[in-house]
This record gives sequence, structure tokens and C-alpha cells, in this order.
Amino acid sequence: MVEAPKQFSVLGLPVHLSDHYDHWLSDRLKQGLGSHVVTLNSEMVIQSERNDALASIIRKAELVIPDGAGVILYLLLHGQRQQRCPGIELAESLLRQAGQWGESCPVFFYGGAPGVAEKAAEVWHQKVPQLAIVGTEHGYLSPEAEEEFKLTLKDKQPKLILVGLGVPRQELWIAQHRHLCSQAIWIGVGGSFDIWAGIKSRAPGWLRNNHLEWLYRLYQEPWRWRRMMALPQFALKALADRLA
Ligand code: UDP
Repeated sequence: MVEAPKQFSVLGLPVHLSDHYDHWLSDRLKQGLGSHVVTLNSEMVIQSERNDALASIIRKAELVIPDGAGVILYLLLHGQRQQRCPGIELAESLLRQAGQWGESCPVFFYGGAPGVAEKAAEVWHQKVPQLAIVGTEHGYLSPEAEEEFKLTLKDKQPKLILVGLGVPRQELWIAQHRHLCSQAIWIGVGGSFDIWAGIKSRAPGWLRNNHLEWLYRLYQEPWRWRRMMALPQFALKALADRLA
């Protein structure tokens, strides 16, 4: 059994430290243990201060990975050298692993505008033909269609469920519905379907390597500026916390 990753507190929220999150999750999958994976960044930390439900879900998640540069810098300020683990990359690694297991690890894509998760599934099917994607659903369902969708999930029992509804909707949705497939890995993947479907792109490597992926997102989606005000807020809190 792979040892559970060590936990560290980032302004009151847990983050797990490891270089092999995928190994740990694969191990849990083999044992039939369900997991909720949260991909923590500074925006989420700031949101959690005003959103008790989100904070409580993050505290209960089996795995919280350091997705954002701010979280990595916070850890560094506290003497913890940890590699950043973007949620999209962990999801890609889990999909490749699921591909190796084929039918015994059915996968579901939920979220994004109509057609996007479907397109992302096609792209993945070409990349990893053995991957058993048993269904896709878009993230703008009517309440009736959502009820139907829940029945589908219950029936198909996917083992890896990617939920791309944006933060905090995806975290709340997973927490409320993970009992439907209690042995699955559930991971909130934000806009990853948009990227796999070719609708958006990730920042070039040199920006990612210099902790500037957020700047590229701001350039691609300037309307995010209000949300991104959380970044300087987080930086100030992190510094104040360190000095205290
Ligand atoms: N989305 C959705 N249903 C909604 C709201 C959003 O499926 O009711 C999708 C949206 O189409 C996009 C993703 O959620 O694909 C949000 O992506 P974003 O990059 O904004 O995620 P975040 O930065 O919040 O992780």
C-alpha cells in the first residue's frame, strides 16, 4: 500500500505533499476506496474564507493537491519544497492509467458547454484507444435532465469521474453526489474539457515554469480580473501569516 501523503496547512486549509499523487490514487482505486480530489489554488483559499461549505468540503477531501503557484510559494515560505501539480496534469495522468486498465476502470466526463465534454472524450479516445469512457454530459442541465443524469451515473458506476463545472460549483456538486459512485475517484477539473476539446489553450511552458500561468489566463479571459483580485489578497495574507 502506498503511504498517505503528508498534510500541511495553507491558511487553515489542508494541502497534501507528494510527488506521486497518481500512485496513491491508483492504489485507493484498486482497494475500492472512493476519493474526492481538490485542486487548490489561491483563489479557492480566498473564496473559502467567505464560503463555509467550500472550506468544509476541502477539509474533508481525501486529497488536496497544490494546483496554484500561490500555494507553492506559501509552502516555500514555510520551508516546504513541493512541486506544483496542475489539476489538468493529474487528470491526464489518471486517464492514461485508466486506459491501461481498460473496461475495469470506466470513466465519465461531466461539465462544460454542450458538446465540449463529448469532443474532449473523442480526443482522448484517439489518444488512448483502450480508455473506457462510458459517458459524457454537459454542465448546463435542467433540473429534470440532472435527475436523469444521476440515474445514469448510478447505473454505470464509473471509477473515474471528471467534473468540470468551475469552482466552487464542481466541489459542491461532487460532495453532494459522490455517494452515487462511492468507489470512484471524483476530481474537479475546471476548464480542462475546454482545453482538451481545443477551445482554449494552456499557457506556454515558459510561463507555466515561471509560475505565471495565471497571467496567461487573464490575457485569454480578461473578464476574470475580478476573480483574480484574490491573488494579491492571498499573497498579502501569506506574508502576514509568515511574519506572524
Ligand atoms: N461550467 C459548466 N456549468 C456551469 C458553469 C460552468 O459546465 O454551470 C463549465 C464551463 O463551461 C467551463 C468550466 O465550467 O468549462 C469552468 O471553467 P473555468 O476555467 O472557469 O474553471 P475554474 O477556473 O473555476 O476552475
